[in-house]
Amino acid sequence: MRIILKKEEIKGNRITISGEKARYLISVLRCSAGDELQVFDGEGSFYKSKVAGLENKKVIIDLLERISLNAESPLNLTLVQGILKGEKMDMVIQKATELGVKEIIPAVTERSQIRHTRKVYRWRKIAEEASRQSGRTMIPVVHEPIEFNSLFAVHYSLPLSGFIFWEDGGLPLKEAIEKMQDARENLSNHPEACIMNPASLYLLIGPEGGFSEEEVNLTVSKELIAVSLGKRILRAETAAISAVALIQFLLGDI
Ligand code: SAM
Repeated sequence: MRIILKKEEIKGNRITISGEKARYLISVLRCSAGDELQVFDGEGSFYKSKVAGLENKKVIIDLLERISLNAESPLNLTLVQGILKGEKMDMVIQKATELGVKEIIPAVTERSQIRHTRKVYRWRKIAEEASRQSGRTMIPVVHEPIEFNSLFAVHYSLPLSGFIFWEDGGLPLKEAIEKMQDARENLSNHPEACIMNPASLYLLIGPEGGFSEEEVNLTVSKELIAVSLGKRILRAETAAISAVALIQFLLGDI
């Protein structure tokens, strides 16, 4: 059994869990005194623990041993996802989390059908639950939605560190990675990029209607690389999950 608690909830060797998390432990996981449990702090470690007992819908837990676990990807992947309708966005957040993405930026693009959303809290809960389920020790940051065109002003380390996935053109992924690595070797002419973490990569996936040509041109003008995922047109959620998995396979830890 595995739960994630905020670091500030983990004080001392005996903790009492109440509310939603206690309900989850009691009703879903049906825990009882003596059960073993892993308590993740969402920041890189977990505690071997034991259920000491249940009291008035609360669960008392003894923390036995703190273990630093590195279940995290060596890559700092940021997925910039054109906001998708309904459960498609939930699925992208869940699968990208399982695959190891560190940050998710919901973007409003020219062809977005969703221009305003109140789902960020929901998406953050999905990311937290997917982190717990996949045994990650970090919870990906789900940012507030951003207009696509202001992305480059807000995320200044983007130049030279990203791929825009474009079904109407773009390099094969392996070629794009080689081109990126060559470009990074000549960082000297990009002082702003020298702050970039070598393992950081932004993956830009459009909404159901895709990116506009202007959006692709703006992105390429910032020295990101347009990448193709092959000849077939993938649904956005398929493209997002495939792109993250392929990058993790080629550069990360899958
Ligand atoms: N133009 C598409 C169409 O005609 O249906 C709409 C965009 S597609 C459904 C959603 C997103 O998935 C695109 O913006 C792109 O980021 C990505 N995508 C889908 N297929 C792709 C491919 N073959 N190569 C690269 N990206 C792709």
